[in-house]
Amino acid sequence: MSETRTSAAPAAAAIVRRAGRDWEVVIGLETHVQLATASKMFSGASTAFGAEPNTQACAVDLALPGVLPVANRAAVECAIRFGLAVGADIAPRSVFARKNYFYPDLPKGYQISQYEIPVVAGGGLAIAWEESGEGVERFVRLTRAHLEEDAGKSLHEDFHGFTGIDLNRSGTPLLEIVTEPDMRSAREAVAYARTLHALVVWLGICDGNMQEGSFRCDANVSVRLQGEARLGTRCEIKNLNSFRFLERAIDFEVRRQIDLIDEGGSVVQETRLYDPDLDETRSMRSKEDAHDYRYFPDPDLPPLVITPGWVDAVRAGLPELPQARRDRYISEYSLSSYDANTLTASRGSADYFEAVLAALGPSAGAASAKATANWVMVDLAAALNREAITIEASPVPAAQLATLIRRIEDGTISGKIARELFASLWSEPQAGADAPDRLIESRGLRQISDSGALEKIIDDVLAAHPKSVEEFRSGKDKAFNALVGQVMKASRGKANPQQVNDLLRARLA
Ligand code: ADP
Ligand code: MG
Repeated sequence: MSETRTSAAPAAAAIVRRAGRDWEVVIGLETHVQLATASKMFSGASTAFGAEPNTQACAVDLALPGVLPVANRAAVECAIRFGLAVGADIAPRSVFARKNYFYPDLPKGYQISQYEIPVVAGGGLAIAWEESGEGVERFVRLTRAHLEEDAGKSLHEDFHGFTGIDLNRSGTPLLEIVTEPDMRSAREAVAYARTLHALVVWLGICDGNMQEGSFRCDANVSVRLQGEARLGTRCEIKNLNSFRFLERAIDFEVRRQIDLIDEGGSVVQETRLYDPDLDETRSMRSKEDAHDYRYFPDPDLPPLVITPGWVDAVRAGLPELPQARRDRYISEYSLSSYDANTLTASRGSADYFEAVLAALGPSAGAASAKATANWVMVDLAAALNREAITIEASPVPAAQLATLIRRIEDGTISGKIARELFASLWSEPQAGADAPDRLIESRGLRQISDSGALEKIIDDVLAAHPKSVEEFRSGKDKAFNALVGQVMKASRGKANPQQVNDLLRARLA
């Protein structure tokens, strides 16, 4: 077992105290990312999800005699995109290998993968999460990322009393991304998985659909006493397809391993499955070692050659990456790192934020950016959450939000009225960037900034509340706020609050 190569000490919260002893948790993740290509890794069959069983498996996927695999150029390009985005090395010449094992959903008797020379090596991901109210930032090193094909699927449910095999998924391109054993808590592992998920979706190499299995994590977990240099024996928990399951499975596994050692036993290296219904992991099989798979280079496939020119072309087509955008939001718009992180958690929300700013025009400064960030992160996010829709499907387009924000800034409406308008635009979507303006006019929501009109309202309010006036004059500041409230109410929220303040003070002086 190797020495720990982790650079940073674990956060205090990552230490597990049990029966007077302090344990350190060690986690490495292997993530299978399904690549968003139209056809399979080594055949021309479609990868579309949800087709009738066995309608999307061609002779190559069925492993009929005499067929030859051909590597999918688009899948290779996805791997290059990923490698460049995480600062890894792209191998100029990598090798496809056969990983041999027997399973009903694998008709060839082997899976084509990469073993000794993967297409992507090294690199890493900066991650951030909150630990008891404080922001923690870490860097998780990647060991490698390799291309491989997926297997088929066994259908156990209701198949005339038999188990059926659906080979639609067999041959689907996957990028398996492997980390160093750098993570120290379930929370940290989830932060890594979320960051990786956002990145592969951002890069457009994966649709990110976890229910459909497009992003699945295997968690390798071990524990050791704090201060111990050697890594403990690990278990691997397979196929975790939600962030919640990932966190719970690791937490359960950590407790299980510590209990086991505490009771005088020892952890056996094995593959385990997480059962969400029982919230526990259980043994699936003893862990194979690499030699059990009898890896060897696939004689049907030439080495995968990636020229520097190809890498440059892919680099030129990369979008601005989340990290770069985050830094730009901080330097260009003076946003806090929390705001910048939140906005860049998905490409959709970052794009929406920028579309609002673009609509506000080049004169929009840091104050407009902050106001926009708040709208996107608070009001819009809450509405999206409530309806469980993505920001791309928002019924209020960026241009309309920009108009709302402009109308607050130029004093036409108050923030409170703006929120009401946003709710209206959300529930009854309308076309055109000027939809907020039309609503302001048709509902007569224009803020009353005409001092003559305001003074009239103020006089009425003062006449109706002599007691508050008296209280204010005898030194009770609270009475002033009460009077402001009455004026706002009398104007049905349309009075300009700052102006009400000024006029009222002058009137009472
Ligand atoms: P395998 O060949 O069995 O898949 P690897 O050496 O490729 O094993 O490691 C798989 C994953 O397990 C990697 O993410 C690695 O960081 C992690 N890992 C290795 N040893 C440990 C350990 N003792 N505790 C936790 N994770 C580990
Ligand atoms: Mg592995």
